[in-house]
Amino acid sequence: MKISFEFFPPRTDQGKQTLTQVRKELSAIDPEYFSVTFGAGGSTQDATLETVLNIQQNDGIPAAPHLSCIGSEKSKIIELLDQYKTAGINRIVALRGDIPSGVRDIGDFHHANELVEFIKTQYNDHFHIEVAAYPEMHPQAKNITTDLEHFVNKVKAGASGAITQYFYNADAYFRFRDEAEKAGVNIPITPGIMPITNYTQLVRFSTMCGAEIPKWILERLKLYENDLDSLAEFGTEVVANLCQTLKNQGVDGFHFYSMNRAQPSLNIAKNLK
Ligand code: FAD
Repeated sequence: MKISFEFFPPRTDQGKQTLTQVRKELSAIDPEYFSVTFGAGGSTQDATLETVLNIQQNDGIPAAPHLSCIGSEKSKIIELLDQYKTAGINRIVALRGDIPSGVRDIGDFHHANELVEFIKTQYNDHFHIEVAAYPEMHPQAKNITTDLEHFVNKVKAGASGAITQYFYNADAYFRFRDEAEKAGVNIPITPGIMPITNYTQLVRFSTMCGAEIPKWILERLKLYENDLDSLAEFGTEVVANLCQTLKNQGVDGFHFYSMNRAQPSLNIAKNLK
């Protein structure tokens, strides 16, 4: 069973200390890699590099930086990838990203497939390239068919694997996986798993990224909004069951959106292993 965990780059000293401890706890189950998100448009980019190098040098777990291309120039991408290559990093999560409001210049890339193609041209097979996949459709896509075609384009451009946006409906994943397979995709499509720990935050994220929270889950989260123990217990049960359903249908890898917390990802992941 392959398990990976995703972090966002902390910016405060307290956040850095917390993440160091979280990484230590998560390392105990020997994850395949730790990935670190990257802010399109510049705000957290140095923090991503710092966190990635710290993981790579200290954790004994491979680090995989996310890299978004919107608003960026080819020379900047090369500068960063050269630093990663020198540091011994060989896995990248390649994304378009979202252009921050107020930024007019979209730069040298329009979509993630162009970034994947560029990395392949510049570095051949040095980097294992993961791309994003959307079982419930990317929110800006025209329709589900064109969205799948665009996903297939990223695979044809050279992606070695895909990580999905989070979802709570296993059928959405199975349908996407089947349709991708029919379209000739034969790379692993790893489910992205978002633990449920906070009602307001989850609703906000889900609205932004177009992930559906089924009504039967949402109603209970509302009920437990101010009862964090019950919410955590319910959320862990829901997500653990989702993972088990996926595992029963042949899924052998999971990517956890840890939100820089060890629990509840760790308990769920431990059981899967
Ligand atoms: P693309 O694959 O380029 O797709 C974006 C949209 O454009 C889709 O609607 C697609 O259908 C459409 N499209 C693609 N190609 C074409 C074309 N040729 N013509 C017309 N339309 C096209 N964001 C960050 O800023 N930092 C991160 O670290 C980060 N990490 C993520 C990790 C994962 C696993 C996931 C699932 C998402 C992550 N995101 C991150 C969010 C991501 O950047 C956004 O969802 C973004 O809007 C799309 O990125 P993409 O790489 O999927 O883009």
